Amino acid sequence: MAAALLPYAFILIPKYAMAFLTAKRIHNGYNWLPTGSVIELSNDGVIISVGEEHAHKATFYDGFLCPGFVNTHCHLELSHMRGVVPEHTGLIPFLKTIPTHRNDHTPEQKRLARLNAYEELAGNGVVAVGDIANTTDTLDVRAMGKLHVHTFVEAIGFNEARAEAAMGYARQTLEAFATQPIGISWLRQSITPHAPYSVSQRLFNSIGECNESGVLSIHNQESAEENKYFERKEGAVADLLHGLGIDDTSFVPSGKTSLTTYLHWLPQRLQYLFVHNTFTTAAEIAMAQQYCASAYWCLCPNANMYIENRLPDLDMLMQNTSNICIGTDSLASNKQLNILDELNTIKLQYPGIDWEILIKWATSGGAAALQMDELLGAIMPGKRPGIVQITNNKATGLPNIINKIV
Ligand SMILES: [Zn+2]
Repeated sequence: MAAALLPYAFILIPKYAMAFLTAKRIHNGYNWLPTGSVIELSNDGVIISVGEEHAHKATFYDGFLCPGFVNTHCHLELSHMRGVVPEHTGLIPFLKTIPTHRNDHTPEQKRLARLNAYEELAGNGVVAVGDIANTTDTLDVRAMGKLHVHTFVEAIGFNEARAEAAMGYARQTLEAFATQPIGISWLRQSITPHAPYSVSQRLFNSIGECNESGVLSIHNQESAEENKYFERKEGAVADLLHGLGIDDTSFVPSGKTSLTTYLHWLPQRLQYLFVHNTFTTAAEIAMAQQYCASAYWCLCPNANMYIENRLPDLDMLMQNTSNICIGTDSLASNKQLNILDELNTIKLQYPGIDWEILIKWATSGGAAALQMDELLGAIMPGKRPGIVQITNNKATGLPNIINKIV
């Protein structure tokens, strides 16, 4: 993409015509910089230099500075469902509740909830979001220009006979996003499968063929029941499909897990964003990384705790990949949209994972997963990542006070 077409960061006019920033510690999106490092910013938020010069004129910030966060998995269109579904029900009861309640609210209630959620993301230091859409509801928030957005338009349809109709609806929805006037932030979109148990083989094939953006996102192995269904066509997923009146007669169980099965229905040339991965094994990660042009593994820890009360095995994940990123999922399965709180949830359960790694996942990891690393995710000359200051909450001792600087 030509430099002239690069979008502005989420705030156009920083507080200073040109700024020099320093802090106790600075994380550049990959690692901690040497003590005393100074960031030089242009008047539109572009990093000019990072080094130890200009210390005498730099503004000192308490806590630490890092690039703006990238939230790689959210559903802004479900924001009105905050608190509707009880916690710890498990995925299948959760999935039964969503269709029953997603239309309980008026269009105005939904609109206000979306706007609030969008502001919540931006206020919590997020600069870009990978946002799932089943409708065109989020056209309004995309136009606000505070966040870069990749909208993943979900195709859903497990009945083979309905594949063309499902694809037609997804194409129509995609078209509405694709023809939205371009504003000051990146607005991108692609059609993506919802989950292995809600997309037929034929629909997987069509989605793969039409995806030109290079990034394909999918809810992957969020529940053990998903694997059971693919292996033996039984269990709670079978009950869910039958309960919803979905004809699954064309599905033949593969005797293998979901990921091992559906991935081969999709092209190798794409970059994949696997979301949740709560029940994904080391062998499957290795297989996917060999198969896909590139593979990113998105963690949504608070949503995992909310629904299944279990996190993926992060020690195993870290041994097998460094392509990890963070999402909040929707307000239907999270109390807030706050990437730093997601990191705190991981830190509480995995105290051995350094903040240096956690911040990397939330910044450069997410930017690469959404193919926005040309501009975002790193405090390096030429990029315009947004900069946030993080300080500790005195009551909890956890870093959770977020102040957007640019
Ligand atoms: Zn989700």
